[in-house]
Amino acid sequence: MSASGKPLAGPAPDTASGGRPTFWIETYGCEMNDYDSEFIASRFLEEGYAPAPDPDSADVLLFNTCSVRQGAEERVRGRLESGAGRKGARPGQVRGVVGCMAQRLGEGFPASSGGIDLVAGTDTYRSLPTLVEEARNRERGPLVATPVDATHTYAIERHPRPRENPVANLTIMQGCDKFCTFCIVPVTRGRERSKPWRVVVEEAGRLVARGTREIVLLGQNVNSYRDGDVDFAGLLRRVSRVEGLARLHFTSSYPRDMTTDVFRAIAECGPPVEFLHFPVQSGSDRILRRMRRRHTVDWYLEKIDEARRIIPGVQFSTDLIVGFPGETAEEFRDTLRLVERVRFVEAYMYKYSPREGTPAAKLAEELSEEEKTARLRELIDRQREIGKEILEENRGRRAEVLIEGPSTRNPAEPFGRTRNRFMVVMPPGTGKPGDLVEVELAERRGSTFRGIPVGTGESWAS
Ligand code: SF4
Repeated sequence: MSASGKPLAGPAPDTASGGRPTFWIETYGCEMNDYDSEFIASRFLEEGYAPAPDPDSADVLLFNTCSVRQGAEERVRGRLESGAGRKGARPGQVRGVVGCMAQRLGEGFPASSGGIDLVAGTDTYRSLPTLVEEARNRERGPLVATPVDATHTYAIERHPRPRENPVANLTIMQGCDKFCTFCIVPVTRGRERSKPWRVVVEEAGRLVARGTREIVLLGQNVNSYRDGDVDFAGLLRRVSRVEGLARLHFTSSYPRDMTTDVFRAIAECGPPVEFLHFPVQSGSDRILRRMRRRHTVDWYLEKIDEARRIIPGVQFSTDLIVGFPGETAEEFRDTLRLVERVRFVEAYMYKYSPREGTPAAKLAEELSEEEKTARLRELIDRQREIGKEILEENRGRRAEVLIEGPSTRNPAEPFGRTRNRFMVVMPPGTGKPGDLVEVELAERRGSTFRGIPVGTGESWAS
């Protein structure tokens, strides 16, 4: 997860507001926050607002925040304390903080982040325009609204911006019941609740009608999804039937809830891609127990083997934490051994950092920063070598690529991904966003292949 501070709602194609009130949303954190910001934007559009061309001129300025790591919160605090959006802000501008940090801190949101009029938690998004009006009319102090609503789900009915990228996120469930000891999410996102499957399928249909070719189903634990008799495998089958959908991808999954039927649905339906994000966190059973992860290393490896038997060519990514309290040098070696055994194509690797309000934050035996840094460095180095080896094994093969847009290095070259998520750039003129192209995976630049379109006789000019 990154904390990128992406502006979501502006500038929009019709930035002239025509006298309508305007809004701007700055988004931090994961894909679920991106999706939430799109939902919030859709609510303001429904209420007659227009997207602002910049934060200073917006009537409503919202910061959609992340709490997953200390650094993500510090970034938002720095942004608020620097007076973001204050310079030249129009009189009466309402500045609000929403998202996980707002939910976690509530009334305790730091007074030092002055100029905040609204602190609104993750279950308030449907009523945000009303809360903004209440905050505007308040005489003193910010309005704080952090209710927990165990039934709250939402679907985007009106997307706030044209879809240039053919890949779109779609949140199918929220919250988490797992309570891993290191994680703040059950506090900030509440208990698991699933969006009704018919709502998910309708939303997928709307996205495809707007040009989406690949949908990424999002949730803290997508494979814990359940709506009546429909579980996650059933949902994959139903969304796969949306006419015109080329690819279906999902994140994040909880290993213990991964069923054989999900693997079968991936193998049997066309759109689900041959790629699984399967977060293991550690290669030591003792550390997994201390994390309260509910899987053992052997169980996890059997699941990986089962997926490989059922889904030909599947690739895996994972999350790994090093330096969990009490992790011995040998237990860290167990994680390295697991990485060698599974051969993930990529991994999100972090040093453990305590999060206030989690059980792990009370554990003694915290490792020194130097030790955690050294272990992380070693793990990253080995994982990178393995990732490159996997890419090298695939050089020369043919693969279908979905063009997502221009490459960042050379906008004339289209960029896309194979079904198992290898990154590919192609010669100028190969196609446009949304096209599926058959390529040969030729040489690599770092972790990106150069793809030669099959049957065109094209090659790279350089
Ligand atoms: S499964 Fe664990 S790590 Fe994932 S969101 Fe839930 S508590 Fe956090």
